[in-house]
Order: sequence, then C-alpha cells, then structure tokens
Amino acid sequence: MSDSLRDGLARNYLAGSWVEGDGGARLAVEDPGTAQDFIDVAMAGEATLARTLEAARASFERGDLADLQPSARGRLLLRVAREIRAIKAEGAEILCRESGKTLDAARDEFEEAALYFEYYGGVADKIEGKSIPLGPDYVDYTIYEPHGVSAQVVPWNFPVSIAARSLAPSMAAGNATIIKSPELDPIALALLGTALERAEVPAGAVSILNGIGGDLGARLVASSEVDQIVFTGSVPTGQAILRAAADTVTPSLMELGGKSAAVVFADANLDGLMESLQSGIFFNAGQVCSAMARVLVHRSIYDEVVARAVSLADGLTVGHGLDNPEHTPVISATQLSRIEALIATAGQDGARIAAGGARLEREGHFMAPTVLSNVNPNARVAQEEIFGPVTCITPFETEAEAIAIANGTEFGLVAGVFTRDLARSHRVARKLRAGQVFVNEWFAGGISTPFGGIGKSGFGREKGLEALYNYVRTKNIAISL
Ligand code: NAP
Repeated sequence: MSDSLRDGLARNYLAGSWVEGDGGARLAVEDPGTAQDFIDVAMAGEATLARTLEAARASFERGDLADLQPSARGRLLLRVAREIRAIKAEGAEILCRESGKTLDAARDEFEEAALYFEYYGGVADKIEGKSIPLGPDYVDYTIYEPHGVSAQVVPWNFPVSIAARSLAPSMAAGNATIIKSPELDPIALALLGTALERAEVPAGAVSILNGIGGDLGARLVASSEVDQIVFTGSVPTGQAILRAAADTVTPSLMELGGKSAAVVFADANLDGLMESLQSGIFFNAGQVCSAMARVLVHRSIYDEVVARAVSLADGLTVGHGLDNPEHTPVISATQLSRIEALIATAGQDGARIAAGGARLEREGHFMAPTVLSNVNPNARVAQEEIFGPVTCITPFETEAEAIAIANGTEFGLVAGVFTRDLARSHRVARKLRAGQVFVNEWFAGGISTPFGGIGKSGFGREKGLEALYNYVRTKNIAISL
C-alpha cells in the first residue's frame, strides 16, 4: 500500500491534512467475516470538529468551490473520479474486510463512487437560473446558490458510494462538505480523502471525520455552523436529526429505511424473478435500504415461487467476502442477534420458516439466507425493516389486494412489479406508494435515475439531475430599472 493511502487508513481528513483527532481516542474496526478486530482508526472529538467547521466555513467564504468557473468545478470532479479509480483496488480490499461484502461488490462500490463524480462533474456547468418577465420596468431573475456548509452523515452498508452520492452533487453545487463516517466501517471512506487530496480539491472544501454517531454525529448536525444536513440511515436516527435541525431550522435531506415489496403476477417470468430475488435480498446479506424485503405473489403461482425461493436460498455459496461467495456475513454480532430476534416473532404471527431462519455456525457473523412464507402482511417481520438476508412471501388474489398490501407499511422507498402485461405494469407502478418502482428487474435504474423515499423512508431525492437541486437554494433578484 502506498504511503499516502496508508495516511488515510488511520486518520481523519481535515482540511487537506491527516489528523489524529482528540486525546488519542481510537476506534477498533472488526472484520465481520472473522469477527476479529483487524485495524483501528483515530476518532475526532469536539476540538477536531470545531476546527473542521471553522475550516469548512473559511473555505466556503473564500469561494474555494463556489467561485470557481462552473466548468472548472466540473473538471475538478472528473479528477476526483480518476483518483478514486486509482485507489479502487486497494480501497476495495479494505472495504471488503471492514464491511463483510464481497471483493467484487467493494470494487463495484468504488467504481460507482467514481461514476457519481463523473456524472455530477458533467452537470456542474448546467445549473441554470430563470428570467421572469415583469414588464418593461423590471429585470427579474433567479439564481441557484450553494447552501454553504453541508454536513453529511453516512451509514455502513455502502459507505463509499453513499458518501460519493451526496458529496459529488454537493461539490458540483459549490458547497463545503463535512462527512461523518460510519463507526463500523470508516476506513475505505477515509481513503476517499486520498483521492480528494490527489485531485487537489481545495483544503477545507471537504473533510471526513471518524466518530460515534450519538456523539460526533449529533454535535455535527446540531451545529449552528451547518447550513444543510444530508442524512442517510435509519428512521430513528433520522428523527433525532430532524429534531436537532428544528432548533437551527436547517434544511435537511433524509434518505431512510424501507420495507419494499415486489408484486408478482401469474404471468411473470419466474427465472427473471429469481435473479432479482438473489440480488434484491441476498446481495450484501440483505443490508440494502431498497432490499426486496417482501414478495407478494399471485395465489396461482405461490407454491412454485416459494419452492424456487427456498432452493435459491439453500443453494447460495457462503464465505468470506475476499473469496467472492454469493452470501456474506452481516456487519456485526448486534445486527445478527437483531435479525434472529425478529425472525423469532415470525412463527407467533403464523409464518413458516421455509429456508434458513438462524445464524450459521461458523467463524464470523453469518445469518442463513432466509425465506419466510405465509407471512401475514401485518406481522412484525412484514412491517419492520430487518436489514438482513430475510424475505417475506405473502399470497394475494387480486391486483387491488396486492397494491393494498404493498402500500400497507409506514415506508415508501422502492417497489417492484413482475408481469409481462405492459398495461398492468404501468397501472400498478402508478398506484404503488414508493419513490421508485422497478418493473421486471429489481435495482433497474442507476446513478442518473432519481432515488428517495416517501413516508418514513424520508424525503428529498438523491441521484440524477433531481439531486443537484437539493444542494442549492433559489435566490430571486428583482431589479427596478
Ligand atoms: P444509523 O444507525 O441510523 O446510522 C447512520 C449514521 O448516523 C451513522 O454514521 C451513525 O453513526 C450516525 N448516527 C447515529 N446516531 C446519530 C445521531 N444521534 N446524530 C447524528 N448521527 C448519528 O443507520 P445504519 O445502521 O448505519 O444504516 C442502516 C439504515 O440506513 C437502514 O435503516 C437503511 O435502510 C438505511 N439506509 C438508507 C438508504 C437510503 O438511501 N434511503 C441507504 C442506505 C441505508 P454510527 O455509525 O457511529 O452509529
């Protein structure tokens, strides 16, 4: 590993420098595939946060990004994309070990991060205002300006790509950004600092701090020095952050959890459905906000779908992420116990454990790929986000009933429709209460398609052009001639 990458391994990236943090505090990071600590990182405390906020404010006031020619800002983002690709191989190995995901998935995550910088690099000079006709005595126009200091709090399931998803549009819009990394897998994200440094992003325009959410994260979002909060994570944390944001009236973007349903009609292509199920609920051990957590199946094909899902779940190869198996560990012992506790409620609610249902007795935090059948739509397992490799299958009789079940949770992140009937796919997609609907392929779409929730899944959109407008505010200038 090169020296500059090694710097980023253990430290906080503060205004272009690598710093230890306060009082020598360090955070141990575990490999979920072995359940052994393998590295630790320096944690930022109150004093480091204060310095970071000061540096971000100074960078914004200097206009480090905001006053660059928009096309120059775009080229800067393209340089970041190039440098992310340069650290991809080494970064992915770290990400694989700290998060438990496969090496291939970790490489894809770095690649996705690079793609966000390319995408928003390409639109940095296309943020245009409007002129509004008010008659001959006035000139009136709107401009979009950056918020100022954007505080971004990142979850552990895709730390690198989710950070890039918010950081790239934030930089394209001209904000100074402070990122709080997740405590369970902060290291690969810290390495992003190396890419920023090598791309010569102005010091202070971006900082990345390691620390505990309830401490460093809470202080960051509560600071009156913050002009925007971007949060991706769980509903309870999002609610706590919104309460803090209420005190300072800080604009906030909330990307929260889900309990997404696929509606499978009798004419669906079941081979395609199984491919979607594998990526939808077993990729990343189901630790995906938009996971296929519920599968609603027309009664006429219900038994066949359950049988196929069971054989899929039972047949997955299992192993450490470095070996690129089909099924990997969950992030921590706590998460594993949480998943098991939720599954334990399934039987009381009348569901059947058709596959899996318990931890795998091997080194690391492995949960068996699990299929629950006959799940009552109101059961806890069908209502709460499990955030593990567990899907709930429920039969339905009519289209209206399927839509009612799919819409019957407090979430609304994504949903899916599986049918060969085009008219039905449009009709049902429009009725589903979700920010994005996949038809015949789970996770269809990409970095340019807007993504985000309704209900308790949050508000605001990430990805695509749509996201850019979260990172700016509108100013109207009305001139009397
Ligand atoms: P989490 O526990 O809510 O944590 C998310 C981030 O918030 C972490 O960096 C955490 O720090 C920090 N945090 C915790 N308490 C805080 C507080 N009081 N103030 C400020 N920050 C605080 O979520 P998670 O377990 O990491 O992630 C899983 C959740 O994220 C799931 O619900 C999933 O659906 C959701 N998610 C949503 C999306 C989306 O785009 N909609 C994408 C990915 C994940 P620590 O790491 O130190 O706890």
